[in-house]
Amino acid sequence: MLQEYSTELEKINSVFGIIEANRILEIKNEMALYGNSYFLENNHYNNDYYNFDILKENKSIESIFIVATPSPFYILRVKHNENIIDIKIPPIYGNRSDILENIKNITGKIFIKYGFSTYPVILPKKILAIYSGLAQYGNNGLVFVKGMGSYCRLTAFASDFRSNNYTWLKPEMMKSCKSCGKCVKNCPSKALKNGTPWVNINKCIVEFNEQDGKFPNWLNDEWHNCLIGCIKCQEICPHNKKEWKTIIIPIEYSEIEEIINSNNFTNLSEYSKKLLIDLNLDRYYSKIKRNIKYLLGI
Ligand code: SF4
Ligand code: SF4
Repeated sequence: MLQEYSTELEKINSVFGIIEANRILEIKNEMALYGNSYFLENNHYNNDYYNFDILKENKSIESIFIVATPSPFYILRVKHNENIIDIKIPPIYGNRSDILENIKNITGKIFIKYGFSTYPVILPKKILAIYSGLAQYGNNGLVFVKGMGSYCRLTAFASDFRSNNYTWLKPEMMKSCKSCGKCVKNCPSKALKNGTPWVNINKCIVEFNEQDGKFPNWLNDEWHNCLIGCIKCQEICPHNKKEWKTIIIPIEYSEIEEIINSNNFTNLSEYSKKLLIDLNLDRYYSKIKRNIKYLLGI
């Protein structure tokens, strides 16, 4: 079954890893050990985001699968007063629903064919990918998958499928990070440190511009670089240099003005609504409305 699953995933340029389900308790303990200050995935953990009790709730679970799929970097290209303005959207945000749908279809087809069930999970996907050998950490705290760099989306699920051959690798940073450090230098808020994949979440821009509310005073207006999130430690990385990963969408400046001046998402024109929905950004509407002003300095 695994070979067939791999072949089907290859058709959407995806790869997968697998870990023995009961090892998620080791991940839980490790995350608790590191506390809440330096690990992006821990931030959710503190809000009881992850469910490590799935093994108690469903005794038939044997394996956790983790799938990596390339995720493009989008640019909204706007012409304004004879200038070209590129509004960046980092990978992961853009094609979320397409990826989920594709993986769901392929997984459903293959697992059912062989008589296995699959179950949704809420687990720290980056760590799963690393322990499964699918990915390695970069110095920027992101996971890098061969052939995709960090421009990838991870999807995890559980199954009653049992393998004879599980992988469990100690997390390591990519060897190339040792002599590079470009992401550390390029981080505007100094949230990264040479030689460690831990990100200081109290300084990372993503932690602020994905939330509603005012930005803290120390966050310099000029550090904003994306419609949502931040691309600085990814776009500089030599592992992310393939051009096919960038999709440019031309839009009118009037559409930007419309979003800024709107009161709520439902009042937007059908065109603007579709633009945000197609990019899976409708759930970030209120943040985007605020972030654009910072990005354009208006
Ligand atoms: S920019 Fe350099 S140091 Fe940072 S993740 Fe990429 S290879 Fe590693
Ligand atoms: S996402 Fe931005 S702020 Fe966060 S570590 Fe990377 S460069 Fe720094």
